[in-house]
Amino acid sequence: MEPQEDTKPAYKRLASPHNPPLHVIVVGAGLGGCAAAIALHHHGHKVVAVLDKVRNFTRLGDSLGLGENAYRLLARWGCNIKEIQDIGNQAPTMKIRRWHDGKVLAEQPLMDMAGYIGHRGDYHDIFLKWVRERNIPIRMGCDVVSYSDSDPTPSLTLASGETLTADLIVACDGIKSLARHLVLGARDDPVSSGYACFRAYFEPSPEMRADPTRNAFLGEDSVNFWIGPDTHVVQNTLRGGKEFNWILTHKDEGDIPESWFQPGDMDEVRRLAADIDPNIRHAIMSTEKCLDWKICYRKPLPTWVSPKSHRIVLLGDSCHAHLPTSAQGASQATESSGVLALCLSLVRRDEVRVATRAYEKLRFPRVRVSQTHGEDLRDRWHNVLKNAEENVDIEPEKVKIKNRPLYVFDAEQDVMNKWEGVASKVRRELTMGKIEPLCPE
Ligand SMILES: Cc1cc2nc3c(=O)[nH]c(=O)nc-3n(C[C@H](O)[C@H](O)[C@H](O)COP(=O)(O)OP(=O)(O)OC[C@H]3O[C@@H](n4cnc5c(N)ncnc54)[C@H](O)[C@@H]3O)c2cc1C
Repeated sequence: MEPQEDTKPAYKRLASPHNPPLHVIVVGAGLGGCAAAIALHHHGHKVVAVLDKVRNFTRLGDSLGLGENAYRLLARWGCNIKEIQDIGNQAPTMKIRRWHDGKVLAEQPLMDMAGYIGHRGDYHDIFLKWVRERNIPIRMGCDVVSYSDSDPTPSLTLASGETLTADLIVACDGIKSLARHLVLGARDDPVSSGYACFRAYFEPSPEMRADPTRNAFLGEDSVNFWIGPDTHVVQNTLRGGKEFNWILTHKDEGDIPESWFQPGDMDEVRRLAADIDPNIRHAIMSTEKCLDWKICYRKPLPTWVSPKSHRIVLLGDSCHAHLPTSAQGASQATESSGVLALCLSLVRRDEVRVATRAYEKLRFPRVRVSQTHGEDLRDRWHNVLKNAEENVDIEPEKVKIKNRPLYVFDAEQDVMNKWEGVASKVRRELTMGKIEPLCPE
């Protein structure tokens, strides 16, 4: 048979509508910063640098989900998303189980929650590669310590004393964002969610693989959740079952700091997991070490854009962090990237402020929906078995993950649908010199 000709058109980035193109600096080369750089590049803008304060990236974190809402955009921007899909968990379904005996309460396609679940570090490596493939400079060891909100050229200063200017600065500096305070004047006020999670990620030993009390979920890629009163466990495998991850969410009565790196107390884990389904209990109990993550909220911010020039914007966890149960942190940062880049393409070169103010107005309601999905799921899981009789069946709908509607959303199409209305509102507000806050201050 003749080889089929590949009829798929080669990827071509869009031409800039501006002459010269807008120059943009991205602060933070996490998943959000990389997605922003890729989206801006796709829409024809010039990303002069992506800056990150760390000197090297290592394989940090554990499981992270990317939904179809993010894939669709990344594919449109010329990224080969198969690279992500290939290293993600391949289980077709996930099972939601009763805490103490593992009875399956609901089973649903993995795509209903996180799309592909993969290791954050592995996904991050691919995002960084995509940025480099576009010849966008990533500058490591660049700690941004201050911003100047000058119009028309905002600037930032690095710890080294170097000052950089651009037409627009996009601060993707994560949940502990400095930009939130320096640019918006907002205090970083983490609000405890009342929960923390112990997390462990490891390669199971040959002994564990051979031990029938610990290997129930090691045979093939799997994703399981055990839910109980005020607690749940997530288990999944990665790298084709070579690596194993469990996350135990529990009431947070302690006073641990909010950190990605805080060591956890395995004795406390063993106490909390003492009555969980034996099929997962022994795998948890015999784990050597774990991390302890406090789960904090940030109150929604009334603005994501600098007040004077409107040319420094926040994006990703710096302005819309999500609970782990939402599985949408990276996907929503990707959506925000597409929206910002497209809004910039829809305005004249001297109208950046219209684009940035439209960006925040378009994104705010959408991320609130996605954030509250995560809160709703956690509350349903933690409450459904309270006072439930042992032998009463739980309706599957009560425990199912309901993220699917989030995935059909095309963030760039949404901009096109709403552009006229939102742009005229922004223009009116700018003329009157009064920008309506996104939420009460
Ligand atoms: C270490 C770590 C582990 C994580 N693990 C998980 C996980 O296991 N599961 C999960 O769902 N989510 C995890 N997350 C969160 C997840 O990556 C984000 O929710 C999502 O990718 C959106 O990312 P972001 O780019 O907005 O922020 P982040 O991913 O936090 O990236 C922010 C980047 O900004 C850089 N930065 C911060 N301040 C400055 C500054 N002043 N100057 C220059 N650079 C700066 C940081 O070094 C970092 O690289 C983790 C985040 C981190 C940082």
